[in-house]
Amino acid sequence: MGELDKSLGETFGKSADQMQKLRAEGVAAAKRMIRFIDASPTPYHAVANAAAQLQEDGFSQLREEDAWTIEPGARRYVVRGDSTIVAFQVGTKSPAAAGYRILGAHTDSPTLRVKPRPELSSAGHLQLGVEPYGGVLLSTWLDRDLSIAGRVMVERAGGIVGELVDLRRPVARISNLAIHLDRKVNSDGLKINEQKHLPPTIALSSNECDAIDIRALVAKELGVTREAVLGHDLVLYDTQKGALGGLNDELVMSARLDNLASCFAAIEALCGASASVAETAVMVLYDHEECGSKSAIGAAGNFLRDVMLRVAVAYPDGQVQASSRAMARSLLVSADMAHAQHPSHGERHDPQHAPRLNRGLVIKHNANQSYATSGATAAQFAALCREIGFAPQEFVVRSDLPCGSTIGPIASASLGVRAVDVGAAMLSMHSCREVAGTLDVHLALSTYQQLFR
Ligand code: ZN
Repeated sequence: MGELDKSLGETFGKSADQMQKLRAEGVAAAKRMIRFIDASPTPYHAVANAAAQLQEDGFSQLREEDAWTIEPGARRYVVRGDSTIVAFQVGTKSPAAAGYRILGAHTDSPTLRVKPRPELSSAGHLQLGVEPYGGVLLSTWLDRDLSIAGRVMVERAGGIVGELVDLRRPVARISNLAIHLDRKVNSDGLKINEQKHLPPTIALSSNECDAIDIRALVAKELGVTREAVLGHDLVLYDTQKGALGGLNDELVMSARLDNLASCFAAIEALCGASASVAETAVMVLYDHEECGSKSAIGAAGNFLRDVMLRVAVAYPDGQVQASSRAMARSLLVSADMAHAQHPSHGERHDPQHAPRLNRGLVIKHNANQSYATSGATAAQFAALCREIGFAPQEFVVRSDLPCGSTIGPIASASLGVRAVDVGAAMLSMHSCREVAGTLDVHLALSTYQQLFR
């Protein structure tokens, strides 16, 4: 048992043996999480993987266009737009009598999206026009082995259907300029023009008239004709797989930890939700958080509210007032990643509110409601953390810096449900390759499991 385990054990009030067990659980959970994230290069893939796991655990799909009947204990899920999903397990009491326990996260991550007519060429390089999605840390996308994935609309015999595509191979590359041609880049910083500097090389050609035909490329992948490809929602992603790191496997390094790490924990927690709890357990994984949530499938849309209203009213003895009664008894836990204190930039945090990696989930506060947390909901969440044996950390952004936001305040306002913003601490947020703590993966999962217990 090393000194590291001993000092962490003191933080958590655990023995060396208990800490060793916790660490092993963290490593096991982080390995499962890496598998989920590697298999989910886009929100469409994340939702398909979530639905597949839910199906395996006894959840069946409802369609928004059908009439629903809801019985106690039912496990159901609903998908909107292929990239947002709501799943729930009805409790032993009606939603009106016991309320909902809601866990929310988001499926999207900052990325580079392929434009509808992306074909470009320059200096013998065949390139793709791309548009930044969300707050991309652009420099991190340079010199990486990129691939292309997403949803393609295909005309089949039965009509137009969305199909997932993932080229898997490193077909795209955005190259840095050699330092010899930009001598001051280290002292002055890398300046990137989004229109001019981001198109990746997809192939080389000696013919200046050549161009990449993106429809032909995905048609070949799907085994259909080029004419059958009617539209696409494609993005670039890094082909490097997630990995454990640090001398003691204390770090997990991967793309899209923000916020597929929270999605992973939410899916596992809901699949393991107890059938003997009074409250109805709900999971929502939204698309479009990184661009402000204002869409039919984002947190500002009516999707979750509509599903919850229908569940409350469709429940046997559901009355007109059932939904309002349910909302008044409910809690929304908005799970998204939190900023850990950077070892070389400590001054960027308020010293009293500077979370560390592997020290447990973070409760996020903002006086101006960029986070939905109140003193009351923070207390409720801290009690959950204590039930599984650790004290949460707390984050408030420096008073002289602007605050980021989450789905928390948006979904909370739309539902009229009290909420708390929480998440695991991480570094390199919005980088092409982020990093978090392995122990925190286990602590997040355990806390969300406790929410549904
Ligand atoms: Zn996020």
